[in-house]
Amino acid sequence: MIWTVVGTVGVVGLVIAAGILVDRRFGVLPRARELRDAGKPGLKLPPHAPGEAAETALAAPPRIVRCHACRRPTQLQGEDRATYGARELVIQRYRCPRCDAITTVYCTS
Ligand SMILES: [Zn+2]
Repeated sequence: MIWTVVGTVGVVGLVIAAGILVDRRFGVLPRARELRDAGKPGLKLPPHAPGEAAETALAAPPRIVRCHACRRPTQLQGEDRATYGARELVIQRYRCPRCDAITTVYCTS
């Protein structure tokens, strides 16, 4: 009876020892540093193009605004004013005559 228990404990111990040796040799389990790094935030989103957002507002509106979808020249549809932080912004909407897409341009004047 006692040898059944000792034998079972011995087999379990051998399997654990073999598993540790295999993990050290081949790196089966993820390491603590890898797990910590996996939880960190990844790459940031690319910044907005100039004039595409309030953060990247242009000093003056461009002469020609091209459609963001088909790259054709667009026509000014209207504009709004807004305050972003301490800055006064002019938000211009351009409509594409070809595909009807709206392109928005942020300016500081
Ligand atoms: Zn278009």
